[in-house]
Amino acid sequence: MELLSKRLAGLSESQTMAMNQKTQDLQAQGVDVVNLSVGEPDFFTPDHVKAAAKEAVDKNFSFYSPGDGYMDLRKAVVAKLKNENNLNFEPKQVIVCNGAKHALANTVMSIVDDGDEVIVPAPYWVTYVELVKLAGGISVVLPTTLATDYKVTPEQLEAAITPKTKAFMLCSPSNPTGSVYSREELKALADVLARYPRIIIIADEIYEHINFVGRHQSIAQFENVSARTVIINGVSKCYAMTGYRIGYLAAPLWIAKACSKLQSQFTSGPSSIAQRAALTALTVNNNFTEDMKQVFKRRRDLVLKGLSEIPGLKFNIPQGAFYVFPDVTACFGKSDGETTINNSSDLSLYLLSKAFVATVSGDGFGEPNCIRISYATADEKLTKAMASMKEAFSKLK
Ligand code: PMP
Ligand code: GLU
Repeated sequence: MELLSKRLAGLSESQTMAMNQKTQDLQAQGVDVVNLSVGEPDFFTPDHVKAAAKEAVDKNFSFYSPGDGYMDLRKAVVAKLKNENNLNFEPKQVIVCNGAKHALANTVMSIVDDGDEVIVPAPYWVTYVELVKLAGGISVVLPTTLATDYKVTPEQLEAAITPKTKAFMLCSPSNPTGSVYSREELKALADVLARYPRIIIIADEIYEHINFVGRHQSIAQFENVSARTVIINGVSKCYAMTGYRIGYLAAPLWIAKACSKLQSQFTSGPSSIAQRAALTALTVNNNFTEDMKQVFKRRRDLVLKGLSEIPGLKFNIPQGAFYVFPDVTACFGKSDGETTINNSSDLSLYLLSKAFVATVSGDGFGEPNCIRISYATADEKLTKAMASMKEAFSKLK
């Protein structure tokens, strides 16, 4: 007999993590699958960061860290926000968490009550709506299309606001579409939100440095919303440290204090060793992230070229992150004689079993007409994957 809480019974598993696990299980059985499902750099953590982790072990960073993270790391985050984003925070407004996912969870749990509405533009990252659900809130999903580069418009945002709106979730550069909001687009959204002073803006900026079109722009730069914006960021993507599990939030003090309280009961401070490594990642400058970004850009172009050779697929040109999110409706209703493709889940499974390429169906991202391809993997594997996908698509009649 299962006696799960209602809270948990309604929660969906992360589809990105699930597809990654399925792929790894197949690989462990000896199946040669190219994994374009999970979004994590295939780069190794830079050597100087690895050295900092080893040094932390030797220097006995083995005790509990402060619940909100080490003060020198919080100060490094403050310096980063000032130097790179021209944003003013104090260390007490910064909480170091177990990854950006945990920073998001802390934030949502701290501000969302039963029945509160959170505006989430779709396609969205899989975790947002599940966290809102867990907190008892309601996601008000704003669909966007290829025509607006999958970006929400100020008019759409304003029309979705109700007296119950508690927060607005914004991800730029975006997972899964790679869309990047320009300064002007962000300003237009901020101008709408300025008229509703009770709405908190949650700005997920984890792909900040993987931006192919210019300097990162944060919505927090606008004075009419800066005092109620929570920045979510971390070291996972830009320093290839996904397994270290260090992220952070920078928030209005009342939210930071609430997250601190929650974290003190839920997890305590994040791993001491990983925090020392993150401090080095944030404070010792080298070209690692820039070099990695150039590689991602090359791979993006490689994948876009491959996709453009598959008739019927429609996609935007991603300007950041490391995903492409093609609309695959052209193959709905088609079959290779064995498998009929009725939706993007069918297609994702078809590509896995026939082309040995793992992708993620758009369902979990709130856009069931698309699939997500992560191109954070080696060029040879991408070339191979694109060729196999092209062949698999050509068999669908
Ligand atoms: N936000 C977005 C948009 C992401 O793609 C990810 C990737 N997992 C996260 C947050 C969480 O990052 P982390 O690995 O630091 O928890
Ligand atoms: N952000 C990555 C992705 O979207 C990692 C998986 C996850 O954390 O859910 O694939």
